[in-house]
Amino acid sequence: MRTVAVRQYGGTLEVMDRPVPRPGPGEVLVRVGASGLCSTDLHLLSGRQPLGELPRVLGHELAGDVAELGRGVAGWKTGDRVTAAMDVTCGRCRHCRAGQTQRCPTMQRIGFERDGGHAEYVTVPAANLVALPAAISYEGAAILPDAVACMYHSLICQGGLRAGQRVLILGVGGLGIHGVQIAHLAGAQILATSRRPERLALAERYGATGVDTASQSLEEAVAEFAHGEGVDIVVDNIGTRASVRQGLGLLRPGGKFLVVAYLDETFEIPSIPLFKTEQQIIGCRGSTRQDLIDVVRLAERGELTPVIGARYPLDQIREATARLESGELVGRIVLTRPSDAAH
Ligand SMILES: [Zn+2]
Ligand SMILES: [Zn+2]
Repeated sequence: MRTVAVRQYGGTLEVMDRPVPRPGPGEVLVRVGASGLCSTDLHLLSGRQPLGELPRVLGHELAGDVAELGRGVAGWKTGDRVTAAMDVTCGRCRHCRAGQTQRCPTMQRIGFERDGGHAEYVTVPAANLVALPAAISYEGAAILPDAVACMYHSLICQGGLRAGQRVLILGVGGLGIHGVQIAHLAGAQILATSRRPERLALAERYGATGVDTASQSLEEAVAEFAHGEGVDIVVDNIGTRASVRQGLGLLRPGGKFLVVAYLDETFEIPSIPLFKTEQQIIGCRGSTRQDLIDVVRLAERGELTPVIGARYPLDQIREATARLESGELVGRIVLTRPSDAAH
């Protein structure tokens, strides 16, 4: 079967033929209808995060239908439309028991430490499957597990966002544009930043006030937006020392700074302001299966729209990668499969 895999660190993403995997006990084989291409897929090429044995098939976001059941799988049948939560967790540690599977210390992730969905077929534990209603296309569903569910997890679960709060979303790329939609659904007022007018235009369509940081002062915009108080929540989708410093300065006392991105190795936190203001700096890692179930429900009802910026067949991974690196996309890239034409 065709896959997109890391053959060696420091190389490029390329199409590789690999054998179709067989589902082990408790697993199902999914025939992939579409998979989401994430900038993390490019970071994984560097080798900074070990992927185990190479080659490794990437793709942590996928949708498709069940093609085969492994031994002991109940509750699913071939042909069921599905997507999958990306973390394969132990189910026994204190974090798993508490439903905080994103903290499981022994997790293996689909498309990281185990083969992922940039393929014609992938095996996933049945415990990770989420049923996909007919109202959601494979392409739309293929960006729910990360680009959408991660923002849901950050804002709703980690940030505890409530109606009427003021949220500043730094960066409205593939994740941030869905963060805008989720914050809007939650009843928040939203200020969103970008240096790209077309991204800001879409963020405004979904209920945000846009700030073009290439030409406008964010400090002035926040002062007006929050009437001099600072915002309740900052979502940092940029993850640089500069974005952390700036974001903390725009947060009200007691406000929450949500760390979603980690471009720089370390951040600098001014200690006295942190002490005085009791601001909270909160890590936000991925999403749980329940987060994915929740966003599937929102997408099914049309309350949330997965924003797809471009579609490429799996075979055109080079073109897709170049487009992703260009940074001029609005929304996410989806890798399509020929069989998805009918859906
Ligand atoms: Zn990702
Ligand atoms: Zn666990």
